[in-house]
Amino acid sequence: MGKTTGFLEYERKNEPYKPVEERIQKYEEFTIPLDKSELKKQGARCMDCGIPFCHSGCPLGNLIPDFNDAVYRERWEEASQILHGTNNFPEFTGRLCPAPCEEACVLGINEDPVSIENIEKNIAEEAFKNGWIKANPPQKRTGKKVAVIGSGPAGLAAAQQLNRAGHLVTVYERDEKAGGLLRYGIPDFKMEKHVIDRRLAVLEEEGISFKCGVHVGKDVTADQLKLEYDAVVLSTGATVRRNLPIPGSDLKGIYQAMDFLPQNNRRVDGLQWEGEEIKATGKDVIVIGGGDTGSDCIGTSIRHGATSVKNFEIMSKGTPDRPENQPWPYWPMRLRTSSSHKEGAERFFSISTKKFVGDENGNLTGLVTTEVEWTHKPGERPNLSEVPGTEKEWKADMVLLALGFTGSEPTIAEQLGIKMDARTNIEASPEDYMTNVPGVFAAGDTRRGQSLIVWAISEGRQAAHYVDKYLMGKSDLPLKGDGDLPRV
Ligand SMILES: Cc1cc2nc3c(=O)[nH]c(=O)nc-3n(C[C@H](O)[C@H](O)[C@H](O)COP(=O)(O)OP(=O)(O)OC[C@H]3O[C@@H](n4cnc5c(N)ncnc54)[C@H](O)[C@@H]3O)c2cc1C
Ligand code: SF4
Repeated sequence: MGKTTGFLEYERKNEPYKPVEERIQKYEEFTIPLDKSELKKQGARCMDCGIPFCHSGCPLGNLIPDFNDAVYRERWEEASQILHGTNNFPEFTGRLCPAPCEEACVLGINEDPVSIENIEKNIAEEAFKNGWIKANPPQKRTGKKVAVIGSGPAGLAAAQQLNRAGHLVTVYERDEKAGGLLRYGIPDFKMEKHVIDRRLAVLEEEGISFKCGVHVGKDVTADQLKLEYDAVVLSTGATVRRNLPIPGSDLKGIYQAMDFLPQNNRRVDGLQWEGEEIKATGKDVIVIGGGDTGSDCIGTSIRHGATSVKNFEIMSKGTPDRPENQPWPYWPMRLRTSSSHKEGAERFFSISTKKFVGDENGNLTGLVTTEVEWTHKPGERPNLSEVPGTEKEWKADMVLLALGFTGSEPTIAEQLGIKMDARTNIEASPEDYMTNVPGVFAAGDTRRGQSLIVWAISEGRQAAHYVDKYLMGKSDLPLKGDGDLPRV
């Protein structure tokens, strides 16, 4: 522990944001980095607890007190080595992770928790700036070939780990560029895409081969890959979108969030897209769904120049504080307000959309909602009921459906005879990540359902260990909690 009294002396300081009027003019990141002397203080707030609950809060098991201490001592390169020992891509999680570690931080019981996520981002940025993140190809090759299907964070983490073990790894991606939802889901204002490109350059230099624009299941069958490679990792995400099958859902002006957001990311990147242009400029927009995807639709609509943006969420409004039944160190379901929410959206909770309304030309003009009430009885699932007499019509020229995902696309599973689970994700046990087909593994959202980047990286790393063990009989690739030897 660097400074024993750090947590008493220093308050948490978050990165400030550029003013709303300025940041909504662009799709760039808008945080203003803290200087190194302030980051040193933030690192000093860590109490190096005897039992660091933050470790278990982090799905990667990041060695948080260790890198906090190194930052306090201004040993940035050492901090980077510690961090990269458990996390392949801290520049992604340092920007985008909801930081369950901070909810589990002991200081968070009666003070603001240590700003772990921001420290992580700054360690990664410092490491790139100083050239400490270099290609580190394996010294020996095993002669084994592995195909990784899908280049989101799960696929990229699995690929890097398997390449480190000496296997020849090829990543197949149906989009024209690698990155998965990091590139085509998450808007540039949350993470600029050069952050992915600079990491991909390192992976390529390490010897990983990328085949983008190849749709496995169509351009090449999964069976062919199974024959050509010694093992296959499926990291294809959970991409089947949830619909809202209510009257009027075929009106013009209703779009899936995952048509709207990827198109905008392509536009920002100067790439082409298929289908009609979807823009919120000059429109009254209603975003249905209050999660991350809904929030990204809000920020994007505001940047398009929407006239108004409303956000409807069927769940009740949480409180900013931890609910009593979700005590520390658990992840609490509290009201979360994103930077996009603060850019001018109106939020409505406990509201359900009953029907869409349109004109004689089939264009959307509005929608009708009712208020809903949630009742919770111990031991039973929460029950939803409509509040009588609360029907209301709202004007809208554009509706964005951000209702989550129902599971994985079935094509590859069908081609390979892989079992799906009850939630239509690929069934593979977290004991070894292998599906019912020997040599075929699954990791990330396609296995656990739509989740988080930190979980995708964690799953990619875990799966890589078991793939290596399957190929070689044993594996030195670390599992979560192994206290890996740092490798940048
Ligand atoms: C809009 C949005 C915002 C989000 N924001 C956050 C956030 O702020 N923080 C956070 O932690 N999480 C966020 N998430 C969740 C996070 O992005 C995912 O949990 C994570 O990307 C999952 O990683 P993955 O590698 O499993 O899958 P994905 O990132 O979905 O990658 C799967 C890849 O597989 C490819 N693929 C699929 N099928 C095939 C095929 N047949 N052949 C070839 N390639 C194929 C896809 O094109 C894709 O590139 C967000 C999700 C969305 C949709
Ligand atoms: S990856 Fe997420 S949970 Fe893990 S230490 Fe970083 S911010 Fe915390």
